[in-house]
Amino acid sequence: GGKIVVMAGPCSVEGRDLMMETARLVSDAGAQVLRGGAYKPRTSPYTFQGFGVEGLAQLKDAGEAFNMPVVTEIMDAVHLPAFVDHDIDMMQIGARNMQNFTMLKAIAGAGIPILLKRALSGTVDEWLYSAEYLLAFGCPGVILCERGIRTYEPATRNTLDLTVLPLLREWTHLPIIVDPAHAVGVARYIRPLAAASVAAGADGLIVEAHPRPEQALSDKDQALLPNELAGIVGDARVQAAVTGRSFHP
Ligand code: PEP
Ligand code: MN
Repeated sequence: GGKIVVMAGPCSVEGRDLMMETARLVSDAGAQVLRGGAYKPRTSPYTFQGFGVEGLAQLKDAGEAFNMPVVTEIMDAVHLPAFVDHDIDMMQIGARNMQNFTMLKAIAGAGIPILLKRALSGTVDEWLYSAEYLLAFGCPGVILCERGIRTYEPATRNTLDLTVLPLLREWTHLPIIVDPAHAVGVARYIRPLAAASVAAGADGLIVEAHPRPEQALSDKDQALLPNELAGIVGDARVQAAVTGRSFHP
């Protein structure tokens, strides 16, 4: 609707009390959508893999408690009934699954909007074809999410590709969200990238937040503290106004 949206929450859903505490800080910071992973695509099989269906329940309950829709990653079509049962508002397709065409086709028709992350080495064409899979197979709404691509530069986790923002404006009508957290991987570097994203035309942001980042079970280095998240939301409001748009709600 042309209004800027901020989605935030923990990388992983880590338990009922912590999910409620984090939802409160996300809401207090002025973000509108609650994120949290129940199924986690971890590089190492020996790290926390997520609480699965119990995580879906904890996320949804926290969203309802603070009147926020929820977004969470689906990694396998066999989990789809649980996403439907828990009334998940938006499913995330992670970078590692952007071209899992079998899954794209299997989940597209569930009636749930999808946040489609760009693959680690996905070209814009490949990304848009994945969006086409979702739309062709009945998905009611697709949002593209730029989350950094893998380049030769090892100084940051990935490289945030803001060049796609003006390009995608010409190539597609789909909304575009930027995830600067998974791009840069370090909490203190996120704020300027978030502001730049909105200034360059992003429809919104998705970031990770945690009341005690050092204790986070995944992606602790990029978890924002409450005041950091509030700063990013404030910047997004300013950039929205500067570019002639408004902030949701
Ligand atoms: C995440 O959102 O926590 C995540 C794993 O994202 P990505 O697929 O972009 O790595
Ligand atoms: Mn994460």
